[in-house]
Amino acid sequence: MTLITRFAPSPTGPLHLGHAYSALRAYDLAQSAGGVFLLRIEDIDLSRARPAWEAQIYEDLSWLGVSWPEPVMRQSDRRAAYSDTLDHLWARGLLYPCACRRADIAAAASAPQEGVSLGPDGIVYPGTCRPFTPITGPRPQHIPLRLDMRRACDHAGLQVADDLITFTEKGAGPQGETGRITLTRNMLVHEVGDVILSRRDMATSYHLSVVVDDADQGITDVVRGEDLFEATGIHVILQRLLDLHTPVYRHHPLVRDATGKRLAKRDDARAIHLFRTEGASPAEIRKMVGLAP
Ligand code: GLU
Repeated sequence: MTLITRFAPSPTGPLHLGHAYSALRAYDLAQSAGGVFLLRIEDIDLSRARPAWEAQIYEDLSWLGVSWPEPVMRQSDRRAAYSDTLDHLWARGLLYPCACRRADIAAAASAPQEGVSLGPDGIVYPGTCRPFTPITGPRPQHIPLRLDMRRACDHAGLQVADDLITFTEKGAGPQGETGRITLTRNMLVHEVGDVILSRRDMATSYHLSVVVDDADQGITDVVRGEDLFEATGIHVILQRLLDLHTPVYRHHPLVRDATGKRLAKRDDARAIHLFRTEGASPAEIRKMVGLAP
């Protein structure tokens, strides 16, 4: 099977050394395996994505020596695919509308009988809006939709607390998690919970889009930062529900600054285009992030 991997930046700011590291890791993996490297622009958040940042991504990556087949997949062109997937999950009674605000969730979760637990998307949703029986009728629009994780587990064949699903990690999570990673029903229900799959303003979410797009692009190996390791459980249960292939995951460490803090988009000082204008070469960028020339 041909290895197919991807780099999936959001055009919401300049690419920095951390992005260069991730893109080069994915590109090098494809090169060494005789595989394919794809680029995907994750621009679902139209309030933050800018065409100028997208143009800069193409320029910076080309300068780094990375190339990819055209056309590039852009999430803003993929609304129909996300909508079909949401319809499918809705028709099976796996989604429900939720109007809770962040503050409502924090307040409900901190009630004495609840106990706050943190998941990949922040506080694990305490279930305020979760219906007792699935809601029927047309899928509501312009309101966030959550995945009912209990029902999702039932549909994915995880009926009792210890029933599990697995994925293969060929890199490592933040605690060194590697190899065959198991996720039990108990973990999914209590440590991940009812995550949002469709936002009010974008009619999808990162989790839904990434799963649908990785499948449609035939991705066999996902190379990305270890900060997304915890979210992988959500992606794997969605793949089971949607009958999609689960890729191999290869999470890598994050590039950090001298104080150990991970780089963020606002860390303009480490933007690739600034290194370029200061005269750095692509080989020097590779060296800075600890990759072979
Ligand atoms: N768009 C995400 C980011 O810029 C990457 C998502 C992924 O690789 O799954 O952090």
